[in-house]
Amino acid sequence: MKVEKLIRPWINSLQAYSSARDEFVGEAGGMVFLDANENPFETGVNRYPDPRQRSLKSLLAKNKGVPEDQLILGNGSDEILDLLFRIFCEPGQDNVLLLPPTYGMYKVLADINRVDYQEVALNKKFQIDVEGILGAISDRTKMVFVCSPNNPTGNLIRPELIEALLTGLNTVVVVDEAYIDFAAAPSWSNRLKEFPNLVVIQTLSKAYGLAGIRLGMAMAHPLVIEAMNRIKPPYNVNQLTQQRAIARLESGLGTEVEQILEERAYLADQLNEFPFVEEVFPSEANFILIRVDDGPGRYREILDKGIVLRDRSKQLGCENTLRITVGTAAENKLLLNVLKQLQ
Ligand SMILES: *Cc1c(COP(=O)(O)O)cnc(C)c1O
Repeated sequence: MKVEKLIRPWINSLQAYSSARDEFVGEAGGMVFLDANENPFETGVNRYPDPRQRSLKSLLAKNKGVPEDQLILGNGSDEILDLLFRIFCEPGQDNVLLLPPTYGMYKVLADINRVDYQEVALNKKFQIDVEGILGAISDRTKMVFVCSPNNPTGNLIRPELIEALLTGLNTVVVVDEAYIDFAAAPSWSNRLKEFPNLVVIQTLSKAYGLAGIRLGMAMAHPLVIEAMNRIKPPYNVNQLTQQRAIARLESGLGTEVEQILEERAYLADQLNEFPFVEEVFPSEANFILIRVDDGPGRYREILDKGIVLRDRSKQLGCENTLRITVGTAAENKLLLNVLKQLQ
């Protein structure tokens, strides 16, 4: 398949805006910069940032094992997802497919971009219904969003099901891997060569502990990345974000992910012991979804004791569920103590 055929013709006809800092950033040796109307007095951030984030991108490309022309960085995955809507979906004409229960931003961004969405529910095991999806696709369907590990359920989507979509659909398949660093599974980014319609989304907001700097990324076919680059705001990733991300990638994550995984196992074990907990769903992420006797009621009781969980009871197939982020060992003990006080 030719994924470039899915890109809106209008987007393919645009030229990227060339900003003043595009050509000479990083080649500061001996140059005098009087081109971008910056304040010449040094503040550490008086210059515009590199619009192509070359240093950070080269580090991330190595880290993720993808070529730089298959990687784009954005102001969180939110911006990346928005760019995808804007390159693929003609407002008021095209549509996308969502697989609930899943991450809420896909729907929000579809609405903002005035793109219709259809929903095909995950099955009882929170796996995707390939037949249902094949049946719901129309020739105006441009993207299917697969979140794996899925938020809020925590499970991985089985690889053979994702592969069936990639080979069986003439649409883009977006695999959102925000939680992949907590999962016992390889990233789909290893398989970009096989599937031109595969777009993998990752973020530094979860395992990397950098939610505050807003850095998300897409890994995809070079022509998809090129189209996204053509329409992104030139300075979408600010200087401070680039610096903090580079520092974190250079220093590494230490044992944080392992600690979270140990705590996840401990929490899951303990949660099973409470009589009002009906089910603890297996998790490949840094959170655990539990089914309780009364979701909204338990949510409020726990909130009254100072602990904020996420009530997911209103999500399709998630009646009476709470999503619990794995905290530090001390935070998790506090939660368990609060739960012990409940009737
Ligand atoms: C948290 C999360 C993200 C991350 O979004 P950012 O904008 O990068 O912080 C993306 N997708 C899913 C499914 C998430 O849960």
